[in-house]
This record gives sequence, C-alpha cells and structure tokens, in this order.
Amino acid sequence: MKTEFTKRQLRNADTQLANDIFRRCVHCGLCTATCSSYVVLGDERDSPRGRIYMIKEMLETGAAPDQTLTKHMDRCLSCFSCMTTCPSGVDYMHLSDLARQEIEEKGHRSLRVRMMRSLLSETLPYPKKLAVSLWLGKLARPFRSLFKAIGFKEMHAMLELMPKKMKRSAEFAGGGTARPLGQQHKRVLLMTGCAQKVIRPSINDASIRLMARQGIEVVIPKNIGCCGALDQHMGREKAAVQHALRNLKIWQAEEEHGPIDGIIMNTSGCGTTVKDYGHLLSKQKGIAEEVERLTEKVFDISEFLMNSDLRTAEQWTDLKVAVHMPCSMMHGQKITHQPADLLQNAGFTVMTLDEAHICCGSAGTYNILQPEIATSLGERKAEHINRVKPDIVATGNLGCLTQMSHYSSTPIVHFIELLDWAYGGPCPESLEHFQNRVDKLAKD
Ligand code: SF4
Ligand code: SF4
Repeated sequence: MKTEFTKRQLRNADTQLANDIFRRCVHCGLCTATCSSYVVLGDERDSPRGRIYMIKEMLETGAAPDQTLTKHMDRCLSCFSCMTTCPSGVDYMHLSDLARQEIEEKGHRSLRVRMMRSLLSETLPYPKKLAVSLWLGKLARPFRSLFKAIGFKEMHAMLELMPKKMKRSAEFAGGGTARPLGQQHKRVLLMTGCAQKVIRPSINDASIRLMARQGIEVVIPKNIGCCGALDQHMGREKAAVQHALRNLKIWQAEEEHGPIDGIIMNTSGCGTTVKDYGHLLSKQKGIAEEVERLTEKVFDISEFLMNSDLRTAEQWTDLKVAVHMPCSMMHGQKITHQPADLLQNAGFTVMTLDEAHICCGSAGTYNILQPEIATSLGERKAEHINRVKPDIVATGNLGCLTQMSHYSSTPIVHFIELLDWAYGGPCPESLEHFQNRVDKLAKD
C-alpha cells in the first residue's frame, strides 16, 4: 500500500511503525473472508482492509479520529483472524493498537459509552471491586430489561451475561505456593487472571492441582494483578504499561526465591498480551533485555503441559469433547493443536467445530460494548456446536467460556478442568451428570 507520510511525520516512532505495516498490505482482500466482523456485517469498513485504509487516512492527514473510524474500529473484535489469513504478514494487531490509542485520546464517543468503558476498566481488572460489582449487579439483574428499554444496551448486556451464581473462592486466591506431589522437577509462576479469580476460580484450582500432581511447584504470587490486556484493547496504553511493569517486578522478586521454569497462563487473552510485553514496554528505557528474558518464559498452560511428560491415560471416558480454540490462542499466539492433543491423550474423543477461525463474540469486553454483533457471533457458534452434538465443549479462555455458555445448552468448560478430572481431580462443576457414566465405564 502506497503511503504519503512526510519525513517529519516519520520521525515519530509510532508513525514509522504504522508506515511499515501499511506498506506490507497489497490490498488483496483475502482477510475479509475470515474477518469475524465482516462475516456478520458485510461492510468493507468492517473488514481489516477497510479499517487499514481509514487508519492510514487518519494518520496521514493528522486529523482527529472521526465518528466513522471510531464506529468501525469499535466493531473490530481484535480476534486477529485476519493476521492468520494475510499472506503478506500485515501486523494488524499493532496497527489497531495505535488506532485505538488515537481514538481514546482524541476521538469522540457518547457519554453512555464512555461511562461504560470507564466502569469496565475500573472494575474488571480488580478482583475486590469486581466481586462488589457482581454483588450489586445481582441486585440490578431483575431490572435489566429497563436498561434495554431506555437504550442502555451495554448495561443490559453486562447484566445479562454476568454469572448467576457467585463461586467459592479458590484455595490460593490470595497467593501462596502449591507444593508438588512426589519429587519436584519444575517450578512455575501461575498468572491466575483478574476476573477469572472471581468468576471461575475452579480453572485456577484445576491448573494448580494438575501441575502439582506432575511434580511441579506452583507459585501464585500474592500481588499479581491484571496483565493489562483490558486497558490495552481500550486504547489506554499508560494503564496497560503500569500493569505490565508491576507484574515484571513481581516475577523478578519471585525469582529471588529460586529459578523458575515458566510463567504459566491459563487465560489465553492474557497470554497474548503478556507474550507481547516487549512491544507494549518498548518505550520504557533500559529494560528491553529483561523484558525479553522474562517473556521467553511465558507459556500457555497447554504448551507447558505438552512438554511435561503427562502420563498416557487409560481408556477412561467415552465423552465427546468439541474444542473451541480462543482467537487469542489460535491467532494471537499461534497455538493450534496442544489443547486437543492433551485431551485426546487423556482419553477424550476430540471433535472440531466448523468456522473454528471465527470469534465466538466474547473478545474481552466486546460482548458488553457491541452486544448485537456479539449475539450474532454467539448464536452462530452455538449452531456449529449443535451440528456436531458433543457432550462437552472445551476452551482455553474464560471469556469464550462465559459467552458460549450463554448461547449454547452444551456444557462449556476450560480444557484444564477436563484434564484435571482425567488425571485424578474432581469432576468439574456442570458435568456431574457424566460422573456415573464415567464410573460405569471405568468398572467395565
Ligand atoms: S481483528 Fe478480527 S474483527 Fe478485527 S479486522 Fe481482524 S479479523 Fe476482523
Ligand atoms: S490479506 Fe493482508 S495484504 Fe491482503 S488486504 Fe488483507 S491485510 Fe492487506
């Protein structure tokens, strides 16, 4: 793509980066076919190519982001399916980050949307505030249709999607160290996710149990917080950088108690962001090498377990599991087969879903801020699930789990909960009705 930036404009590092990205795009349009927003809306401006043109126009002219760009960028799910498809290696992820920062700083959104974005940014990354908000939300939930009636569709969507039951808190919710069973041969730090701790702590419990059973010491750092993904996706770079710097310090402090073999992520949305801390922190002076050294230790739990010699399970179950790969895992981290391989090795019959490359509509806070498009995508995913009729759907991200549970009657769990069950842990909540079938098979 031809660009027309002046030499002066190109002295700015962000503009130089954008220029390099634009110049890789050959306008082929292949990315439109696999774009999660384009397949629903069919408007070129809701495709990667259309957005790239609009971002280029904004940056070249130096104009403030207009309402059209804001609207179509806000409709982008950051699923990065386009990056998997693009034959030219266009780095849409970092380009969209730049556009979102511009919009956040200089663009115009309605008061209602700004309020909602601030509310999400101020509560979701902070477990205590989130717990209080969920409790208040529980009181407001019966009145959610009133919010819809007055046009506050985002508040309606949030109340609609919030968990109906509050979960018990996890054993290591406040941090701690899970000692390995048997001989220790690895030591890892676990990122427990900010919202996950409150909404579905069983994912962290299962991760800790499973790794401890494999002889891995699991450290849950006390003050570890949000990875910064939520703020980054909202264009709030400064806040995202603060989260990242705090986490780096905590990891360094934990290394003083002994070497670590991995920083383990069990929420793929966080994994994509943390693996990319090198880019997020590139403007911080003098820490590049340290950031690189630490982020090389970051693994999704499926990647880490694939290299941890899990024993081969006996034929333990006849349950059919459809694997939904989160976009952040498949497109953001290029993890394509590990969860399915682990489940298959554990004795489950693994199935695939059609249109696996398309987002389920969760996309961080997208299903709250863009409820109509998220609903179309959620219903589309539920149809694909119904078509293959699995017993269970397994995924690797809390957001996908919450979104699909809302649209599908098939139980949706994190794959780590299934693996923990298969390797001696408790039956995951919502799957108790399968326990008799599994016990019977084990006896036969
Ligand atoms: S990130 Fe997803 S929704 Fe956004 S342009 Fe790329 S494919 Fe489309
Ligand atoms: S597929 Fe890549 S090169 Fe082709 S239009 Fe999309 S971003 Fe540009």
